[in-house]
Amino acid sequence: QGDGAAKPSFDDIDLSPTMRESLRKAGYEHPSPVQSGVIPVALSGKDVLGQARTGTGKTASFAIPILERFEESKSKSPFAIVLAPTRELAVQVRDEFDKLAHGRKIRSVPLYGGKPIKTQINKLERGADVVVGTPGRVLDLLGRGALTLDDVKIVVLDEADRMLDIGFRPDIEKILRRCPKQRQTLLLSATVDPAIERLSKRYMIDPVTLDFSPKTKGVDTIEQFYFTVDNARKFDLLQKLLDREQPKQAIVFCRTKRMVDRLHVKLSRKRQGVACMHGDMAQNVRDRVMKQFRAEEVKLLIATDVVGRGIDVSSISHIVNYDIPESADDYVHRVGRTGRMGREGVAFTFVNSEQGSELTRIEQLINKLLTRDEIEGFETVES
Ligand code: ADP
Ligand code: MG
Repeated sequence: QGDGAAKPSFDDIDLSPTMRESLRKAGYEHPSPVQSGVIPVALSGKDVLGQARTGTGKTASFAIPILERFEESKSKSPFAIVLAPTRELAVQVRDEFDKLAHGRKIRSVPLYGGKPIKTQINKLERGADVVVGTPGRVLDLLGRGALTLDDVKIVVLDEADRMLDIGFRPDIEKILRRCPKQRQTLLLSATVDPAIERLSKRYMIDPVTLDFSPKTKGVDTIEQFYFTVDNARKFDLLQKLLDREQPKQAIVFCRTKRMVDRLHVKLSRKRQGVACMHGDMAQNVRDRVMKQFRAEEVKLLIATDVVGRGIDVSSISHIVNYDIPESADDYVHRVGRTGRMGREGVAFTFVNSEQGSELTRIEQLINKLLTRDEIEGFETVES
């Protein structure tokens, strides 16, 4: 990408020689952003509320601090507990622990349903340093007295949002209440909604909040083009573009309500299935337009940013920024209307000769260059 920034190094984090060796053996050369952010804070003993989506290396971000803070203990009961939403995730987390625990005498035990509880009770009997489990099974084992959490120093709630979705909240709270008050809590979640906030307020102490969710959510999977065009040629360009692209459904964004109205009148004369949306329209009219758009009776929706943001229609194939958005953030919101849930989407932005710096600001925010597009034989400059 040519940003010239050096990749972060595990050398920048204060890790033991044993851990460095484990990382080398695991083939981990550079920490992921989540790891660079979470590991130092977690090593300092502070609570962490980390927001990051899947596949960003969250497991090692808590496994490394746990392994580093673990001192071989004589205690039979665990030093750390990791709660995960599903059996599969519990197994994955446990595997990552084993990978990074190379050369350490640390006993990690997975605890999840669907396996005979007797085997797990026997394992706990023999002693466990780290347990990784689903809330249901952990609670079951606590109830049977097979597991105690009195010596726990670190609690991890991995994929906390998913655990809440599945309905584990009461179980999680019961488990947290069984842990000593003096402990470290690390909570990782793809989203931080009010439910997560409540959980963190109740069970964490002054957590350090770290957000690794991409600002360009979803937008990096959308093909993005721009046209340089004089204002006086924009309407003709739009017509040519729609002819070429044949969009299944499109939203055409304008900056002002007045522009929306004007374009609506002009385009309706030329095409079927055109409608418009802006903040001055009565709510019942807007609702009707949305219904028609969802039913695909409306193919082309001309809108301002205000109404554009809320629109969540999966079949939108094209976004046209007839007017370049006022802010780069608005661009991300507009373009995010297409390509939802992995579907393909494409976005076109019309830029006049005075808007170069606005285009650059967008490119900086999304960390990607838009591709220049042209329509054969079409003059974008007024003659
Ligand atoms: P998440 O929990 O955020 O979904 P994982 O912790 O499961 O992500 O990591 C995803 C994959 O990346 C795993 O296969 C893991 O082994 C690998 N991985 C994690 N950290 C690194 C790293 N620093 N370098 C290389 N691979 C890594
Ligand atoms: Mg994970």
